[in-house]
Amino acid sequence: MEQGPPPVNSMSVGVYVHLPFCRTHCTYCAFAISTDLSAQDRYTEALVREIAAGEDARGHTESIYFGGGTPSRTSIANLARVVSALGERFEIDRDAEFSMEANPEDITPESLAAWRALGVNRLSIGVQSFHDIELMPLGRIHGAKQARESVALAVSSGVRTNLDLILGLPGQTAASFGETLDTAVSLGAGHLSLYMLDLEEKSPLHVQVTRKRVTLPEDDLVSDLYVGAIAPLAAAGLHQYEISNFARRGEECRHNLRYWTRGEYHGFGLGAHSLVGDRRFANTRDIHRYIELAPDASDFSETLGVDEMRRESLFLGLRQTSGMLYRDFKEVSGQEGAAWIERGLRGGWLRRTDDRVALTPEGFLVSNELISQLF
Ligand code: SF4
Repeated sequence: MEQGPPPVNSMSVGVYVHLPFCRTHCTYCAFAISTDLSAQDRYTEALVREIAAGEDARGHTESIYFGGGTPSRTSIANLARVVSALGERFEIDRDAEFSMEANPEDITPESLAAWRALGVNRLSIGVQSFHDIELMPLGRIHGAKQARESVALAVSSGVRTNLDLILGLPGQTAASFGETLDTAVSLGAGHLSLYMLDLEEKSPLHVQVTRKRVTLPEDDLVSDLYVGAIAPLAAAGLHQYEISNFARRGEECRHNLRYWTRGEYHGFGLGAHSLVGDRRFANTRDIHRYIELAPDASDFSETLGVDEMRRESLFLGLRQTSGMLYRDFKEVSGQEGAAWIERGLRGGWLRRTDDRVALTPEGFLVSNELISQLF
């Protein structure tokens, strides 16, 4: 069993910035977004106020993540204002990972050059599929051709590149999914995030599915595709390191590793979450309230107890292919843990070495259900 990527630096903090603007609202999306681009300047002002004001939001950072929404829809001038505000608040490591989410339709030689000039060194591109017929029901703006061209452009610019892909799309087959993966690999992406389509009730696509206007692939097929993708991706140099994430060695997402190891992070912007010490808090998801209230736009806060933190560590540890140290697992799970491990080894959903315990790909498919048996 792998020991996993290098541990995150506990002396540093992660920085997340939410940039919510999108051209249209995709039919499956449940993120905090806005299609009202006219609010962009006021939103950026609120964001800068929040970054400047946070008393405990400071320190050394090795990872910045601009998520959304579609950050690539935010103007370069506004991105520059945010980057400058962060530079005044945080001591940004010269080798910091600086990720930004981008959609294929926004990627041009000019935009790439401008983002890179701001310090962005990793792009996470919302490709979802390399088949037009699968993109159409999602309400995406881009088509497969544009996605291929944009990814090729990004990779050739030298920026590290992640592609978001979705499993379980309407019309997806084993052959079409295989082609999507082959295309992603052949374009040279160093990182893939492979998410299962997870439809919020009442999302337009969910309504279409319940009215039987759109058909999703059978769950068994989706499970087979997921498990079957792991070995070919590893053979192509993209090893799995978390339930949904695959990377070339050294290209694992440092920022997300911080989340999965319960490292501290500060989130700014609409709906953004923060974890500081034993305190977790989040901003409102209502953009008008956020603009009005920032820097005091928090609408959720909790203080975690020791047991809660341990349970979270277990849950997050078991999402990673390197799993967790057996002694830590035992400390959190107690007597029930030993029986759980026995069941897992017999059922093929768990692996164990002398000092570590981890879920197998079959275990990842039902990880929430399995882990909930422990508490
Ligand atoms: S572009 Fe991304 S964030 Fe925006 S609506 Fe579509 S899925 Fe949601």
